[in-house]
Amino acid sequence: MTTEQIYTLAMMQLALVILLASTRVAPPLQDLRSLRLFQISVGCDALSWLFYLWPMQPMLLLISSLAAATNFWLLLAFALSRCNKAVPWPLLVLMIPLQAGIYTWLNLHGMEYAALHFMTLITALVALPIAWLFCFQKPNRTVSDQGFALVMLCWFLVCVLRTVTVEFHEDWILSGYLVSQVLWPGIMAAYGLMAITGYLEETQQRLRAEAVHDPLTGQLNRRGLNEAVAACLSYLQRNQQPAALLMIDLDHFKRVNDQFGHDGGDVVLVQTAKAIKTMLRQSDVLARFGGEEFLIFLPAANLQMATTTAQRLLEGIRQLEWPASMPEDYQLTISIGVSVFGPDYDFGRQLRLADQALYRAKQNGRDRIEFAGTAADS
Ligand code: GH3
Ligand code: MG
Ligand code: MG
Repeated sequence: MTTEQIYTLAMMQLALVILLASTRVAPPLQDLRSLRLFQISVGCDALSWLFYLWPMQPMLLLISSLAAATNFWLLLAFALSRCNKAVPWPLLVLMIPLQAGIYTWLNLHGMEYAALHFMTLITALVALPIAWLFCFQKPNRTVSDQGFALVMLCWFLVCVLRTVTVEFHEDWILSGYLVSQVLWPGIMAAYGLMAITGYLEETQQRLRAEAVHDPLTGQLNRRGLNEAVAACLSYLQRNQQPAALLMIDLDHFKRVNDQFGHDGGDVVLVQTAKAIKTMLRQSDVLARFGGEEFLIFLPAANLQMATTTAQRLLEGIRQLEWPASMPEDYQLTISIGVSVFGPDYDFGRQLRLADQALYRAKQNGRDRIEFAGTAADS
């Protein structure tokens, strides 16, 4: 086996390992198309290296060039698809035989330098748009996506290095060409890895967001609330700043479900959560605490500020305008339990106190605010 054959074999194996690793990625359905394009592209790359194992004949060179061209243009299709852009299939399909034809023709006519320059041009047409897409156009851009863009840029720069050095050095095999051969495996491994970790990172982000949010209202769930409060509370305690909790329960919500069905009840929950959110400050934390209970954490709010916020919410919900699917005269009211953090900044204790206050608000006729820490709570 010659050194070149060993190199070819190693590159083919690298492509196959990336292909194998990519089968372990399970993106959401809408991203599956881009993953398939990536896999076919990498598969074609492996194929193009395979044909270099034999002494080059015109036919083998053409087939290998076709596989390499498919690898290039499908990588661009992958990038477009990954960034939710339309793929110009007629153009891409035209570019594959065109690239393979020109490259083969140049090589068969002893114009290896020209073939290398031509490939630099093709790389500019493929790698640069991909780098731009992943850097500026991709939704939910992750660090892996930026890494992918960077690798594409490196790929192009290595081609430029090669194209420049082959013209300026006599012994071109030992200069830029060799450097590019040394760098290819790294670039290949990096782009494969970044493409795969891009999918994984996105999945990780989505699962993380789902774990801390309520799917119906889109607000934080209990876990999200606990994390947000824990992060904030130690800072407030260190700086001896006040904080308050508002526990909200929708009044007679069972009637809403009875009257408008469960779906109607869901609409009311979603609209109420949205309305509450708009009535809060950016730094306030809103969470859906249970079925039709919401909890609001007000950092840096004393009793007076918490009362003002609670009154604003009470009034705001009373005057809410409902979607056309609800009766015109429909009015929702809420009850609120307010508790202000004591010097121990104990979240669990404060929660219980707010809950007791809410219970009293219900007992005292609903559509009202009650405060924790009164004699009735102890
Ligand atoms: P009260 O004024 O005493 O709070 O009366 P209520 O009818 O609101 O009583 P309660 O708080 O005990 O009732 C909660 C109801 O909320 C019961 C349950 O069917 C309903 N519920 C809980 N989660 C959901 C949900 O996700 N969607 C809908 N549509 N209803 C829900
Ligand atoms: Mg209720
Ligand atoms: Mg309730």
